[in-house]
Amino acid sequence: MSKDNLFLETIKILREYNIKVNKRKGQHFLISSNLLKREIEYAEIKPSDTVLEIGAGLGTLTAALAEKAKKVFAIEKDRKLFNVLKNQLSSFNNVELILGDALKLEFPAVQKIVSNIPYSISSPLTFKILSLKYEKAVLIYQLEFAKRLIAKPGTKDYGRITIGVYYKADAKLLERVPSKAFYPPPKVESAVILLRPKPPPFEISNENLFFEVVRFLFMHPNKKAKHSIKHYLKSKDIEINKLESASELFEKKVRDLTPMEINKIVNVLMPLEKE
Ligand code: SAM
Repeated sequence: MSKDNLFLETIKILREYNIKVNKRKGQHFLISSNLLKREIEYAEIKPSDTVLEIGAGLGTLTAALAEKAKKVFAIEKDRKLFNVLKNQLSSFNNVELILGDALKLEFPAVQKIVSNIPYSISSPLTFKILSLKYEKAVLIYQLEFAKRLIAKPGTKDYGRITIGVYYKADAKLLERVPSKAFYPPPKVESAVILLRPKPPPFEISNENLFFEVVRFLFMHPNKKAKHSIKHYLKSKDIEINKLESASELFEKKVRDLTPMEINKIVNVLMPLEKE
């Protein structure tokens, strides 16, 4: 696709293939060639890189990635768009198109992930990305969600996803993106996020237990931790009175607990789990 006028090109393709945009599938197509250029720059795509794109749409970003990378895997769930992609990208022999739901597919091994993601799957997709091996991910999210990835304890944006990211990656908000960068424009502002995996900042003895406790805690972020812990113990058939010796952390509001403090709580619960 020519980058001179992405808006006109996008309209032309939508008309040519008679595509009705499906907003429920998060179909907002990138029409800012400057933003496209910056995404590629942020990802520092090298000729040796293999790249994954989730939600390829009409192939605008896919083509720009394919010009720089060794290989691009591009996933698209919408069959009609998938057929458009096959035509639009037929001149590239380094693009592998994959039809399917990004949440259900096993991702190929890649160095970089660059995607303007469907906002409706932001949370599960982020957890999935965090579980992978990769060097760098450049992702456009809805701004409100992007803020949750980099939130500080005690703030309204701090939650389960913040802790998941904090434990596994460095996250940086690189720029805010106005809705006019996409067609049709989404109702909300967006933001570019850079994720780089990092070694965990503290040791978790049992990751599954840690994230399960986090899930329980953040069901009630504004209540005291002990409230959710009681529910958690009940769900496991563990007697609540075993918690007598537990620390003052249980008296803190969930939202005010740092990831490390949550880990301390998990360490108190762990021996009870084993009994
Ligand atoms: N990459 C294109 C661009 O930048 O113009 C399109 C981005 S659009 C925000 C998101 C795309 O993800 C849409 O094409 C949509 O059909 C696709 N999509 C939605 N849900 C998906 C899923 N679960 N798995 C894979 N693709 C999905």
